[in-house]
Amino acid sequence: MSLREQLCEYGRRAVELGLVIGTSGNLSVRQGDLVAVTPSGAALDRLAPEMCPIVDVEGYLVEGELQPSSETPMHLAVYETTDAQAVVHTHSVFGTVVATTMTELPPVHYNALLLGGVVKVAEYATYGTPELAANVRAAMEGKQAALMANHGGVTIGATLEQAFEATRLLEWLCEVYVRGLGVGKPTILTEEQLAAVVERALNPPHFPRR
Ligand SMILES: [Zn+2]
Repeated sequence: MSLREQLCEYGRRAVELGLVIGTSGNLSVRQGDLVAVTPSGAALDRLAPEMCPIVDVEGYLVEGELQPSSETPMHLAVYETTDAQAVVHTHSVFGTVVATTMTELPPVHYNALLLGGVVKVAEYATYGTPELAANVRAAMEGKQAALMANHGGVTIGATLEQAFEATRLLEWLCEVYVRGLGVGKPTILTEEQLAAVVERALNPPHFPRR
């Protein structure tokens, strides 16, 4: 699948799964110095490959008639400082709830380790600005995900599929935490408990054949 075809596929899935409403949210995928990104103002479930602009890592438009998503500077900032090959940004409900009420998503489930443990909330700045890009870049350091204050969430991956799955996981973790707060006081996993999970993952059980 070409980079642009991938954007169409995952854009459609993002809307289907309710991670994105209408034209909110944007995706990009990188190959070398080029980045294919969803266009500004287009519904993500109604994209055609040729609608998706291609920019270079410096932000110059290389191909396409439509303007790149207004959040493209944030995508490029993330590419600049991580080894990400894809970036997914949504305004998913539970992610936005956490980003609007808290300064971080604590690890209440061990799967949070897949995103780097604690997920930080990047400080608020107007959408599309270099300030927001810088804040997200700082919150993302050493992680696969960040939340954006009063805005939404962003995840990265080695492929668009990975970045997309990270977005689904981020939303699931936020939902568990928010619903947990409605029931009682969610227990946060300790450093020691998380280290034990890493240890366990590195040494999976071996079942001998009979
Ligand atoms: Zn946004």
